[in-house]
Amino acid sequence: MSATPLLMIPGPIEISDRVAAAAAGRPPSHVSPAFIQAFGDTLRAMRHVWRAGPDHQPFVVAGSGTLAMEAAVTNLMEPGDHALLVNTGYFSDRMAEMLARRGVEVTQVRAEPGEAPSAAAVSEALIASAKPFKALFATHVDTSTGVRIDAEGICGVARAHELLTVFDGVCATGGERFEMSAWGADVYLTASQKALGAPPGLAAWVASPRALAARDALTTPPPLSLDFHSWLPIFRAYEEGRPSYFATPPTSQVLALHAALDEILARGATPEAAMDAQFEQHALAARAMQAAWATLGLRQLPNPDLAANTLSALRYPDGVNASFLARVRDHGAIIAGGLHPALKDAYFRVGHMGITAFRPDDLLATVRAIAHGLRDAGHACDPDAAIAAANGHLTR
Ligand SMILES: *Cc1c(COP(=O)(O)O)cnc(C)c1O
Repeated sequence: MSATPLLMIPGPIEISDRVAAAAAGRPPSHVSPAFIQAFGDTLRAMRHVWRAGPDHQPFVVAGSGTLAMEAAVTNLMEPGDHALLVNTGYFSDRMAEMLARRGVEVTQVRAEPGEAPSAAAVSEALIASAKPFKALFATHVDTSTGVRIDAEGICGVARAHELLTVFDGVCATGGERFEMSAWGADVYLTASQKALGAPPGLAAWVASPRALAARDALTTPPPLSLDFHSWLPIFRAYEEGRPSYFATPPTSQVLALHAALDEILARGATPEAAMDAQFEQHALAARAMQAAWATLGLRQLPNPDLAANTLSALRYPDGVNASFLARVRDHGAIIAGGLHPALKDAYFRVGHMGITAFRPDDLLATVRAIAHGLRDAGHACDPDAAIAAANGHLTR
């Protein structure tokens, strides 16, 4: 067993040695030629990872996913606007709070924890409400329940009603298929420490031309540090290889993100092939882990048809509670407790995104640690059978 337990929570996640090394050097100046090149390359790589066209604008700003959410809310919306929020859990509630603080009138479409509103349900809600909605907000993968929404279908419904769309991809981007241009999404946002596989510290999003135009049309500007207008000239300059300054970027973090995106895009002969490989591998890892959970007698919190590829949310079996997390850690893997306010003591969460999705040894070591943790906690189960069930998918 390794001395350092594997970090298998839904972010931050295990990062590669190359990514760790990229962040570990002496921080470069934000206007050094090598850094300008790396930042420009990072923005170009984001368009591939997001599957966004050349007219779409990537943003990378110091902060976490929460800051990216706030940037989307404050640049697209202003007091008196109406938003439809597809609410699947903890982070949708956060989005609702941000929208309300911006003075936006929010209408919510909800489902029970572990379920998600379908595209048809969203369509019905839009038709049933006479409100003049400007935008739809949704969470691609709800990290509190492990549910993935039908982002393509919901985006299509919103576009049919000519709504702007904002998808919180913080637990999804890079691990779950998302076709920003083809689907017509307007903001797809994430943070560096989730499926992209870099350390925490960066908020990252791509905005469509429609999203940029929505900012142009505001009469109530967003906070200066989040304003698309503050950052646009900076990112354009980086892509054109010119120095520029608005606020100092966290240069070491950007170098780490650069390495992480480069690693993702190196997994295929073309960026398209690399992203297909990325999405398929996350799906494979999820199937392997789900096979192990079934063998261990664990029940998923989400409706299995809606379960995400980037993490699993699992109900504690009878007689097991959160004290089991420390036992799992002793067996070599760090996993997370529940997060959904209504159920948080009833389940736990396991991340399987980023490089660990490509490392059968890490996935199997995690299954092993959880199986032995369960046994220590008094739950009868067969660790070897669970490892074999997962391995059957990974070696196929
Ligand atoms: C983690 C997460 C966030 C918040 O990101 P931070 O980096 O912790 O601010 C928002 N939305 C979703 C879906 C997340 O998984």
